Amino acid sequence: MATRKIYAYPERVLRQKAKKVEKFDDKLKTLVEDMAETMWDAPGIGLAAPQIGESIQLIVVDVSESDKEKKYMPMVNPTITFSEGSQIDEEGCLSVPNLVSKVKRAKKIKVEYQDLEGKQLELETENRFAVVLQHEIDHLNGKLFIEHLSTLKRNLYKKKVKKWQNAK
Ligand code: ZN
Repeated sequence: MATRKIYAYPERVLRQKAKKVEKFDDKLKTLVEDMAETMWDAPGIGLAAPQIGESIQLIVVDVSESDKEKKYMPMVNPTITFSEGSQIDEEGCLSVPNLVSKVKRAKKIKVEYQDLEGKQLELETENRFAVVLQHEIDHLNGKLFIEHLSTLKRNLYKKKVKKWQNAK
């Protein structure tokens, strides 16, 4: 396993629609292991492949029940097939440094996805885990959580990023 570089806004790869995964091979398994290690090292609770520069439909989410027993779940080609209600929760993103903001999302969702063998699966979830999945699946559509914020807040962040870049 190896940690990978995390791409940050405004990198282009974060704005692209990710390609569907067609090959369920060892390369995919290695990539998933690297993503899990990168996620935990950051630390984060979810990571989408475009965040490490791989524009494919793959996410890894943390499903650990305790700090001692760390567990993650890979989801290949995930799509939201049903959503209901709404909730507002705080979000941050490893690709959007130094910003935490409240975002409105669906309360309950159903997600269709494949496992690492290509088996088709479905999951229904709500609350915080539903937020994480919606956030990560957005990444596969080239969407960052700042796009859910008001124009004012988003522009403020963009200005800050420009300042940081000029300061480098
Ligand atoms: Zn993110």
